[in-house]
Amino acid sequence: EQFAQLGIGEALTASLLEYGIETPSPIQTEAIPYILEGRDVLAQSQTGTGKTLCYLLPLLERIDPEKKESQVLVIAPTQELAMQIVREGEKYGAALGIQTIGLIGGASAARQIEKLRQRPQLVVGTPGRLRELLSTRKLKLHEVRSIVLDEADQIFQMGGADDVRSLLKGALRDRQLIFLSATLGPDVRGLAKREMRDPADVGI
Ligand code: AMP
Repeated sequence: EQFAQLGIGEALTASLLEYGIETPSPIQTEAIPYILEGRDVLAQSQTGTGKTLCYLLPLLERIDPEKKESQVLVIAPTQELAMQIVREGEKYGAALGIQTIGLIGGASAARQIEKLRQRPQLVVGTPGRLRELLSTRKLKLHEVRSIVLDEADQIFQMGGADDVRSLLKGALRDRQLIFLSATLGPDVRGLAKREMRDPADVGI
């Protein structure tokens, strides 16, 4: 199957081709249709399987570029992973007129706050910095329709549970949730059970 058959539009399939990406990986084939439908998804996935694009592509499709509000929030455990996701978001979002911001610990908060004023639609960050910006009201999540926890098991291992809880509370009640995790341990499963509605299970 090709990306177009999974429901990915022409602008993104053209960008993918430019980067030499033609055929969806197994996790992309499984997850993209569910995410496009707005379903909650619980994915067991390892790095290197194409897990980033498996959620970024359909979520970019679901963003309304005309609306200058944060619409998608991606939470990652480490600065390195968050930065990788930001780069992919910028790469594929640009052609759709979608702006991406990285709200990452260790980098200048002042610069991030300045960029937030442009109301980027795709927000990617690490748990502590995101929560800090939410609690100081620099970051507004009331229009966020989809939240991704990438490497959810690591987020818990690094003590991010409270931050995640605050961020979930700040978003819309009927938001779409997507958790990706190398291992689906009790923390990840517990959060999924409490917060997700009829999630689609994908992966491995
Ligand atoms: P990830 O699993 O998200 O860390 O992705 C690993 C690498 O695979 C990244 O460099 C992606 O650009 C690349 N990639 C993602 N999806 C595909 C695909 N369908 N075909 C070829 N390469 C891909």
